Parts: sequence; C-alpha cells; structure tokens
Amino acid sequence: MEVKSVAVIGAGTMGNGIAQVIAASGIGVVMTDINDAGLKRGLDAIDKSLQRLVSKQKLNAGDKDALLARIRTTTRLEDIADCEVVVEAATENVDLKLKIFADLDRIAKTTAVLASNTSSISLTRIAGSTKRPAQVIGMHFFNPVPVMPLVELIRALQTSDATYQTIRTLTEKLGKSPVEVKNSPGFVGNRILLPMINEAVYCLHEGLATAEDIDSVMKLGMGHPMGPLALADLIGLDTCLAILQVLYEGFKDPKYRPCLLWQEKVDAGELGRKSGRGFFVYDNK
Ligand code: NAD
Repeated sequence: MEVKSVAVIGAGTMGNGIAQVIAASGIGVVMTDINDAGLKRGLDAIDKSLQRLVSKQKLNAGDKDALLARIRTTTRLEDIADCEVVVEAATENVDLKLKIFADLDRIAKTTAVLASNTSSISLTRIAGSTKRPAQVIGMHFFNPVPVMPLVELIRALQTSDATYQTIRTLTEKLGKSPVEVKNSPGFVGNRILLPMINEAVYCLHEGLATAEDIDSVMKLGMGHPMGPLALADLIGLDTCLAILQVLYEGFKDPKYRPCLLWQEKVDAGELGRKSGRGFFVYDNK
C-alpha cells in the first residue's frame, strides 16, 4: 500500500516527534490532540527541534518551512478519515487507548492500518477491540524520536503479514531501523529498561545516594550516555509508572513492583522534563 498521509493521534513528547520524522520523509501528516493548547505545544516543539537543525546547518530554512507545511493540526478526529496509516501516541492509559481505537475504527477508511506507539499495553488486546484486528500493529518509537533510530514493530496475535510489511516499509522510509517483536508486556526494550530505572528509583528512595550520584554510577561506571533518573525524567514519570504497572500486572511477578516514590512524584505533578521537575529540575523557558 502506498502511504501518502499519516495521522498522528496525540501531539505530546512522542506524537510531535513522530509527526516531525514523517513530515521529514515527504509524507503528509494530520496531527491531533484534545485541545488547541496541546496542538500548539506540539507544533512549538517541532519548530524548536527544526530550528536547532537549521542553526547546525543540517537543514535549510526553506526545507524547514516545507516540512512544517506538510503537518496539518486538528482537534477533530474525523479529519483523519483520508489517511492510509494512523499512529496513535496518546497518553499511556489502557481505557483511553481502547476508546481511541474504537473511534479510529469507525472513522478511518476500511483499508487503513491502525498502529499504536504504546510502550507496554497489549497490542493483541487493542487489536481485539477493533473490527479490523489484522490491520492493527505496534509501532514503538524511542525518545527523542528524531534522534533514536530504533522502532520496535510489535505484532499482535492477529496482525497480518500485509500490515506488518506496510509498517516495515514506512519505518524504513522514515530512515529508522525496525526490529520485529512479539506482543508481550513491555515488549523487549521496556522490559529490559524499566526494571533498571525502577531499581535506580529504589536506590534514591532508600537514600543510598543522591540522584546525581546514582546517575554518575551508571554513566561513569557502565558507560551509559545518560543516567537512569535523567532518562526517567525524559520519558516522563507518569509514563514510566504506567509501563511498570503493565509489567507488574502482566507477569504477576514482584520483580517488577514499582517503587512507591513513582506514585508520590506523579501525585505531586512532578512528571519530569515535561512539567519542569522530576528527579531533577528543568528550565522549560
Ligand atoms: P505525553 O503525555 O507527552 O503526550 C500525550 C498526548 O496525548 C498529550 O498531548 C495529550 O493531550 C494527548 N491526548 C490524550 N488523550 C487524547 C485523545 N483522546 N486524542 C488525542 N490526543 C490525546 O505522552 P508521551 O510521552 O508522548 O506518550 C505517548 C505514548 O507514547 C504513550 O503510549 C507512551 O507510552 C508512548 N511512548 C512514550 C515514550 C516516552 O519516552 N515518553 C517512548 C515510547 C513510547
């Protein structure tokens, strides 16, 4: 299937990055969010990211304008009706995603592929909530999307080979490296990553060391480019907690039990970079 336009549902941390890389590949994008403020935040983030490329002379100003012109924004889900592919990147919440997929199933054209960028929720369950389960797949980008080459392609039990091929071809067109993964809580990336970050949060909660020093251990001792607590702030503490809960409930294994500090931070609105404060403090101006 030739993909001429892609809808991106959610203009947050991931959605705006996904919209940017799709538009950069020459494909038209319809980016949605629940309100104009969400869309503006998303567009501002794309503009800032492109401006950085212009100042590093990796993009010229004309190409930046052409890329931005390929992104249409809307709060009306009906406006995605002509897209061949939808990539859902809304908040990590199972009830919300099932509702969005029911709506997409009703609105998107019958041939459209519905992909989710979920970090951990079962694609088999999402697919099963639609009348086109063979056309549902996971397309799991990594943060920051314009920089990270990996996309995990998660096959639901019902995903057809044709759907898989469409999304694999699209992923390659975006200049990304697809890795095929079976559906399972956290897939591969987050199943390995989140228990490590959770352990760092336990170390902080137990007062073993400061946040800076915990991150230094992993950077200076293990060669990680970024410490686990700074990485949690980048991902979003609410998103990390949601992924850990899916791992914990999915496997019923106490090794995935989220540290109590996650919920404390989320209840306090300390969500990481996106709210200006998480394990570290950020100047969002
Ligand atoms: P975010 O909180 O930054 O953004 C979510 C956006 O979705 C918000 O702008 C919100 O207003 C919007 N939204 C909520 N309900 C919506 C609806 N009904 N329709 C349209 N938009 C809606 O979250 P995020 O970090 O971008 O995460 C989005 C998805 O990507 C989640 O499933 C998450 O697990 C996944 N993901 C996140 C990361 C990461 O590092 N943050 C990495 C890979 C995958």
